[in-house]
Amino acid sequence: MSEVFQNYVNGQWQASVSDATMAIADPNTGSVGSQVPTGAPEDAQAAITAAASALSGWARTPLTERIDAVKRLAEALNHRAEVLASTIASEVGTPLKISHYVQTMAPIRNCANFVKVAEAFEWSREVANSLVVREPVGVVACITPWNFPLHQIVLKVVPALLCGNTVVLKPSELTPETTRLFAEAVHEAGFPAGVVNIVNGNGAQVGMPMVTSKLVNMVSFTGSTATGQAVMREAAATVKKVSLELGGKSPSVILPSADLLRAIKGTLGGCMLNNGQTCNALTRVLVPEDKLDEFKTLIAAEVKKLTVGASLEATTRLGPVISATQQQRVQDLVRKGIEQGASVIASVTEIPSEGFFVSPMVLEVKPDNVLAREEVFGPVLSVLTYKTVEEAVAIANDTDYGLAAAVWGEPEEAMSVANQLRAGQVDLNGAPFNPLAPFGGFGMSGIGREAGSAGLEEFLEYKSIQQPLPAKE
Ligand code: NAD
Repeated sequence: MSEVFQNYVNGQWQASVSDATMAIADPNTGSVGSQVPTGAPEDAQAAITAAASALSGWARTPLTERIDAVKRLAEALNHRAEVLASTIASEVGTPLKISHYVQTMAPIRNCANFVKVAEAFEWSREVANSLVVREPVGVVACITPWNFPLHQIVLKVVPALLCGNTVVLKPSELTPETTRLFAEAVHEAGFPAGVVNIVNGNGAQVGMPMVTSKLVNMVSFTGSTATGQAVMREAAATVKKVSLELGGKSPSVILPSADLLRAIKGTLGGCMLNNGQTCNALTRVLVPEDKLDEFKTLIAAEVKKLTVGASLEATTRLGPVISATQQQRVQDLVRKGIEQGASVIASVTEIPSEGFFVSPMVLEVKPDNVLAREEVFGPVLSVLTYKTVEEAVAIANDTDYGLAAAVWGEPEEAMSVANQLRAGQVDLNGAPFNPLAPFGGFGMSGIGREAGSAGLEEFLEYKSIQQPLPAKE
């Protein structure tokens, strides 16, 4: 092993019981960067046992102390902000500036958001003769993907801890350095031993033993829909709580009344963010049929501005996708889409020859094309046309997913369309992301919500304690 990625279990650094490793390549060059542990079920078991032992103590720890610990974690992350931003840029391929603002500073600020939510939260209330109290679910397994590695960890671990749960975290095996930095920050924050445990490894060796363990009370999973389905299936045997944040094929509906150029810029930005590797990416744009020619001219000019290059270069707008597998997947889906009749409207062909780069592309497709139906998870925008607003709503909702959507147009009409869309969040006319609003999906985009008070509540149970009614006179 060229580098050792240790697990963090019961407040201590521990090597995996297995020597098995997998090679992780640098997305910018394609050459092998590090060898990371595949992990072993025993590593997961050790972490689960530590979390179960720490549970009753942490659940009884006053909220103010749990808040203080989360504040120390946020400080420890903040001290590492610069290195976190460059590490995520290197591991994921996110352009450095975006890595700084979106991948690093936003999740650090989100720790403070969760603290405010916890301070204002109604932890108990009276309902007739019942005292209804909110209690931690128990031991929570957090399984996270690679695309926004710190953000997705914070969205789970921080609210789970504030609620008094203990945590076993298995981040993506593709972002081991980010995991290492997060684990160091956890250690520095000084949580009691066993409250936060972090295990490196892949899904089969480490993730699945968490899902099936009797000692784990909840699995909070973010990742692909296929893995989410497996998690839900396997969690059924022990009837544990499952929250799933999965994939998407989110529509951007451009109404006839929209400012077309503004809508194009916003949609392209929403599709290409993080090199197209964003769960809520706007990957289907719906254009009025009679505006298609104008749309094509305008979007071609915008695509020309997308400079593709190494993620640490200041001029780069789009970096590589994360892995050779992902690169192949994107290229295969584009090829299949073209075989099924998709036609290229615009693309960037000037891309580095080394590394996992793919050409950003805009294609016109029919609603049954694979590029209109499947999540590509790369810089590919599919264009569909409609004749009436009613038809636009029908096409937008014609998906297995339902994570996000955007609507562009006259505000009242845009709101009316938003109300008809089956999606967990709808942005009107380029409105900014709100980290306090519930985030999650309809349909096969998942179950449950993250962020804000809804994201805190996911990690709580209800307990109703009934008191005798006063004796009748
Ligand atoms: P993935 O499903 O391959 O892996 C996600 C995590 O699950 C990783 O930690 C992986 O090791 C683990 N895993 C894999 N197989 C497992 C198994 N059998 N049991 C338990 N754990 C297992 O997803 P990915 O490629 O890392 O991430 C990309 C996907 O995540 C995309 O589909 C994207 O849309 C989705 N995503 C969704 C959201 C959201 O909030 N809805 C956010 C980000 C990413």
